[in-house]
Amino acid sequence: MTIIHNLGFPRIGKQRELKFLLEDYWNNKISQPDFFEQAYKIQLENILLQKDLDLIPIGDFSFYDHVLDLSFALNHIPQRTAHIENKLDQYFTIARGQATKSSCCHTQAGSLLKWFDTNYHYIVPELTDHIDFKANANFYINQIKNITNHSDIPVTKLKQVLLSPVSYLHLCKNNSQQEALDFLPELTKSFIQLIEQIKQTGVQYFQIDEPILATDLEKPWQHAIKSTFEQLKQTGVKIIATSYFGKLEDNLDLALSLSADVIHIDALELNEAKQVSERIAKDKILSLGIINGRNIWKKEHDHYLTELNSIRQHLDNRLWLAPSCSLLHVPVALEQELNFDPHIKNKLSFAVEKLQELSTIKNRLNTNEFDLTDQQNSKNTANKNSKTAISTSTSTSTSTSTTTTASTTKNSVQNFNRASSFIKRKDIQKKHLNLPLFPTTTIGSFPQTKQIRTIRQAFKKNTISESEYIEQIHQQIKHCVDIQLEIDLDVLVHGEAERNDMVEYFGEQLNGFVFSQFGWVQSYGSRCVKPPIIYDTVSRKHDITVKWTTYAQSLTDKPVKGMLTGPVTILNWSFVRDDQPISQTCFEIAKAIAQEVLALEQAGIKIIQIDEAALREGLPLRKHKWPEYLDWAVNAFQLTTNSVKDDTQIHTHMCYSDFNDIIEHIARLDADVITIEASRSDLSLFDAFKRFDYPNDIGPGVYDIHSPNLPNQLEIQSLIKQATQTINADQLWINPDCGLKTRNWEEVIPALKTMVSAAKALRKEF
Ligand code: GLN
Ligand code: ZN
Repeated sequence: MTIIHNLGFPRIGKQRELKFLLEDYWNNKISQPDFFEQAYKIQLENILLQKDLDLIPIGDFSFYDHVLDLSFALNHIPQRTAHIENKLDQYFTIARGQATKSSCCHTQAGSLLKWFDTNYHYIVPELTDHIDFKANANFYINQIKNITNHSDIPVTKLKQVLLSPVSYLHLCKNNSQQEALDFLPELTKSFIQLIEQIKQTGVQYFQIDEPILATDLEKPWQHAIKSTFEQLKQTGVKIIATSYFGKLEDNLDLALSLSADVIHIDALELNEAKQVSERIAKDKILSLGIINGRNIWKKEHDHYLTELNSIRQHLDNRLWLAPSCSLLHVPVALEQELNFDPHIKNKLSFAVEKLQELSTIKNRLNTNEFDLTDQQNSKNTANKNSKTAISTSTSTSTSTSTTTTASTTKNSVQNFNRASSFIKRKDIQKKHLNLPLFPTTTIGSFPQTKQIRTIRQAFKKNTISESEYIEQIHQQIKHCVDIQLEIDLDVLVHGEAERNDMVEYFGEQLNGFVFSQFGWVQSYGSRCVKPPIIYDTVSRKHDITVKWTTYAQSLTDKPVKGMLTGPVTILNWSFVRDDQPISQTCFEIAKAIAQEVLALEQAGIKIIQIDEAALREGLPLRKHKWPEYLDWAVNAFQLTTNSVKDDTQIHTHMCYSDFNDIIEHIARLDADVITIEASRSDLSLFDAFKRFDYPNDIGPGVYDIHSPNLPNQLEIQSLIKQATQTINADQLWINPDCGLKTRNWEEVIPALKTMVSAAKALRKEF
């Protein structure tokens, strides 16, 4: 019998219950015991949605982030939070920082980084010289007890998910004098104790996630993986060595050699799976990740069932089936969506449905319910499918590693540059805009208040007319502009009150997209996004942002920046059709955004920002795939900007970006100004720009908007002064590190005032 299992399930609940619970707790609306009680209810519901599986994952559920959970379970906690006695408060302080009334002594949050090439963010563990690793599996054990106490699911059906010590170390930020791998022996010792503690509950299977197996690894890391699994195996539990997010490629031999009972691999393309199945040792089970855990398209079974069966026969039934990776990256349940066109709905599959697909496949395999007619079918379907608009094939969606076609290659030889060089444009723009040294601006969004959401919802539900809606949004824009004028920022924005989300909003205005009602996916902690679904050719129907931006501009003589989301970000934060190369879809979006840029320019908007928050995250995990991606991604961005006049200033914004290895591509974007996240990382970020002699303007985010802490004026000044040691003062802008939509006005106003004061003080010094 083929066993089916899952690698991880979305935590947030069908209706984002976890998000609302967290927010209630943080806002002191509920007590800690109530928080625990309700959080465990959500966990149990998640498990019950998976009860038809042979093995159900636990330990994948988290109050905030699974990497932070492991840090906690290993007592690997930043020293700066050691004084916080209450464990849950300590946990959330690491996740979010802790505000104090005075800005002198706040506790800084841990960094957030993208989880591999997904849009999930984890809290980066910090390696410091003296770490006292100590195992405490209570958090995991509580999850197990919660299930065994409140359901009839036996503990033997549960499978503990843990991130391997090696991948964990690989994800750490190393602030110590030692090499990261020097920590491995101590870490593994504690990790083994964790396993021993969890084993006491009766759990037998341990899914040890080693996602770095899908990345380029240096020899010492490969050795570390091998030796760590040898040690873990000593515990006597059943180990599932788990790789995902892509092929093993040069780590294939390593994966095959691991001491494990089961090897799980991403098998979205069956070629590598076949190789592994031919070579895997006779005493090991192969788990194939055949259902795409990163997109929302239903799988076409007939395609590969015959092939899968031949693998199974070859393995003498030593075959398990699972999604390719954790389902954390897809929405919870399609069944609750009522608004989809049936034709489209029929092509979709969310987490719950993906597990049903897995059951169906298992049944068909176990009952041999496929035969030569299937083979015949699969040929026919293959031919048919290459022509259908909505594909159901197996390639990735939110990941961007699909191969390009001739059409993209053609695109890359075209000239996508702006008419004049940056130096010439800078001069023209200087006269045109007349901005001071260290111009101040924001990234675009201002607090999304309850009132704003109510206005949008009322319009969506048709309880207010379009003219009432416009009137009310205008009021919000005016409020936002007035405040910015009072703060005395130099370049203003309209505040994005009309936008629910920077990608969904644009998707709604473009052809080719559909939207779910509840298709939320966790981005970090309580923050969820609802990726639009691109199912057809993308094109622009009408003006999107022009009326809002020009209204804001009509209120002031200071320049108001038009605010658009870039094509690569729209692509990377959507679920993308997989029946054509994603580069082609990206160019379709780019052409639509280019039309909007020109419309803004024609309407008199002098500065236009095109956010590419997700450009870097779209980088394929394997470096050999980078040039191809960066080639079309940068071209697509350029295509949005290359028709504007020299005096129109183009900004772009990128979140969390580490530019060291892609600086020449960032330069090729040729945005007049790039605003970046800098406050949570150290200033080494500037080295890349310096090394490259980056000529264009840069706005390093001078304070962290992800935390409620108030920035400190002197800290901002010293950050900028430090920056001027590597970058010319007249290249520098001053801005927060991201949009302010998640903050409230009480935080935003003093923070921006402090920032503007810092800029003014600096101007006197330079
Ligand atoms: N303009 C967007 C905002 O301010 C950018 C957000 C982002 O980059 N994540 O919210
Ligand atoms: Zn950002």
